[in-house]
Parts: sequence; C-alpha cells; structure tokens
Amino acid sequence: MARTELGTAVAAARRLSEEVLAPQAAAVDAERRWPAEGMAALRAELGGLVVPEEAGGMGHGLLAVAQVGEVTGRACASTSICFGMHLVASAVIAAKATDHHRRHYLEPIAAGEHLTTLALSEPGTGGEFWLSQTRMETRGSELVLTGAKSFVTNGEHADSYVVSTVAAGDDALPGQFSCVVLDGDTPGMTWGPPWTGLGMRGNASRTMRLDGAALPRTRLLGEEGDEIWYVFNVVAPYFLTAMASTYLGVASAALEEARSHLLRRRHTHSGSTLAAQPLVQHRLGAMWARVERTRRLIYQAATEADAGGPEGLLGLCSAKAEVAEAAESVINDALTLTGGIGYSEEGPLHRHLRDARAAHVMAPLTDTLRVWTGRALLDQPLMGS
Ligand SMILES: Cc1cc2nc3c(=O)[nH]c(=O)nc-3n(C[C@H](O)[C@H](O)[C@H](O)COP(=O)(O)OP(=O)(O)OC[C@H]3O[C@@H](n4cnc5c(N)ncnc54)[C@H](O)[C@@H]3O)c2cc1C
Repeated sequence: MARTELGTAVAAARRLSEEVLAPQAAAVDAERRWPAEGMAALRAELGGLVVPEEAGGMGHGLLAVAQVGEVTGRACASTSICFGMHLVASAVIAAKATDHHRRHYLEPIAAGEHLTTLALSEPGTGGEFWLSQTRMETRGSELVLTGAKSFVTNGEHADSYVVSTVAAGDDALPGQFSCVVLDGDTPGMTWGPPWTGLGMRGNASRTMRLDGAALPRTRLLGEEGDEIWYVFNVVAPYFLTAMASTYLGVASAALEEARSHLLRRRHTHSGSTLAAQPLVQHRLGAMWARVERTRRLIYQAATEADAGGPEGLLGLCSAKAEVAEAAESVINDALTLTGGIGYSEEGPLHRHLRDARAAHVMAPLTDTLRVWTGRALLDQPLMGS
C-alpha cells in the first residue's frame, strides 16, 4: 500500500461509506450480523491507515483515525467500531514491532489482507481493561495463555488478536502486564455465545476463552511488563479517538436526519414546513453547536496528541466523555424534532440511540475519564495512588 495523503484516504472512506456501509447499516442492525462486506472493503483500501510507511502502510496517526471514524460512524456505527478496533490493534502491533511482527502482521495489514483487533477487557475486571488477569506461562520457546477476554469486537472474524496478560517473566513485578498477538486459529482459543447487544449489533463483541493457548515467544509485543506503557501511549489515544469519532459520526447522522425532516415535513393547516418554526430553528442550532464543538475538541486533541503535545491525551479523554453525552442528547433532540414519524422503527434514529448508548460503557467509561481529567488537573496520578 503506497503512501496515501490523508485527504485521499478520507475520500476513500466517504466513498466506501456511501456505497457499502450505509446501504447495509439497517440490515446489519436488524440481523445482528457482523458487517463482512463493509469490513472487507475498508480493510482492502484503508487497512494500513496507521501502519508505518516502512512496512508498506500509509503511516497516518490519530487525526486520520478521527476523520475516517467520523465518516464511517455516520454510515454504520457497528462497522466503524469494528474497523476502529482493527486500527487500534494495528497501532499497538506497530508501536514496538520486530521484524517478525512486520512480516507476519504489519505487511499483510498494509496489503489489505489481514484483519486484527483488540482483546483487553475481561469478565473479572470489566471496564478497568488494563487490569489483566489472563495468565501467561513460559514453556521453552512458547508462551501459554489461560484466561478469558470479554466483548472482543470482531470476535472470531479477525486474523489476529492483540491480547493483554499478566507478565510471565521470573523478574516480573506483581501487577505487571504484557501484550501478545495471537493468531485466529490458535489451538486452545474458543468463543462464547453470539453478541446480543442493545445496539452496536453488528460488532460480534464476544467472549474469548484461552485454555492453554500456546504461541511462539516471538508474538510478545515489546518487553515483559510493557502493557501499561502500551495502555497510555498507544491503546488509550487510539481507542479514545476511534470511539469518539465513531460516536461523533452517529451524532452528526442524527443531526442531519432532524434537519432533513424539518425541511420535508409540511403541515396542511399552515401550508409551511416545520423548518419555518422559530423554536425548532433554535433547537437545531443548539444541536449543531453541540456536534460542532465536540468535533473541534476531537480533531484538536487528535492533532495535539499526534504532535506529542502535553494535553493531547487529556483532550482525548474529555473528547470521548463529551461525545458520549453529546450523541445521546443530540439523538434525543432529533427524536423530539422528528415527532411520531421519527419515532417509527422505519427510520434510523432508534438504531442511532441504541448504538450511542454503548459510548458510555465502552471503556474507559465516561465517569472514569472525568476522574482521570480531574486527577490530572489536581496533579494526582491518573490511576490513583
Ligand atoms: C459494543 C462494545 C464493544 C466493545 N469492544 C471491546 C473490544 O473490542 N475490546 C475490549 O477489550 N473491550 C471491548 N468492550 C468492553 C468495554 O471496553 C468494557 O470493558 C465493558 O463494556 C465493561 O463492561 P462491564 O459490564 O464488565 O462493566 P463493569 O466494570 O462491571 O462496570 C459496570 C458499571 O459500573 C460503573 N463502574 C465500574 N467501575 C467503575 C469505576 N472504577 N469508577 C466508577 N464507576 C465504575 C460504571 O457505571 C460501569 O458502566 C466493548 C464493550 C461494548 C459494549
């Protein structure tokens, strides 16, 4: 995959969103099916978005994830999060890649032939996804994993999974964790029941069980005990950006749904459309401002984080918390402005509302992000003492 300018990549995301993602969004939701067509199209053209150029990728960063995520999120939130998790996992693999990782993962990802994803959350530790309890033992040249991962987006559909574990080294301190990349056909990896979420129904966010899953030591990412480095330097910024931009797309889809309804809906008694009502004009203006200020926060924070600016991560924490609240309130307002007609299951607003509710519970949780931001402002350690 040759270097592609950001504008060209975003234009490709827009084309694929219009031609493939949007036409299938309602069916993906209704049938609870993983969006195979949309994911194949995105993987083929944009799979290497954040893979470094020396591995054949496009070498983009957080701003690209934000711009692509907004476009895909507007078309289909499920597909957007599935692709977003591929981008996050690609960035994690790339961060400290060895030659082996480059050949086996990054180059196929850049060629549009490999889908990866992130498996960090666990049933035991929930939203505190950085507290892994999956055990990793060293047996000769192999690493052996035992544990469970919950809500693995793209579950059973990805070619590889970035998995966090308790560090296995003899000198590993208690509370140290590691990241490994696990191939999809690893013996000892099994999957729980299908995903039945209220929204994000195409996600296939399933439970992965690891019962003595053995993999070569070459699949270790970075050094033993590096996971916290990965969490704050790669996972958090990429994860926050992928989620924030997807839900920004959902909010802006709802805004557009309300705007076009107000232009269309004409009352016979007045002969005018709802667009002529000052109250709805006021409400629409306020909705636009809410979406726009969230967009500016996301893009500004992503740009700053790409440049290594001191407040980039803090901005992304607030961006993800803000977008969760903005999307929910804008969709609720859109439901009010589109009346009984918009309340119908024929339209997309019920899907947007269900999808947007996931923003609060996808970790880092909205409340946790507010606490982290407050701690940073008070010069306290983010994770507490
Ligand atoms: C659609 C979807 C896709 C996902 N995709 C992935 C994925 O690809 N990879 C992955 O690793 N994970 C993924 N997750 C998991 C996600 O990031 C969270 O880990 C998961 O939603 C936590 O759910 P839980 O019920 O275990 O939460 P719990 O940890 O049990 O928390 C339940 C609630 O308790 C409160 N709470 C919990 N802890 C605290 C605290 N410390 N402070 C304040 N309040 C707290 C919050 O209100 C929280 O919502 C996904 C989740 C969803 C819903």
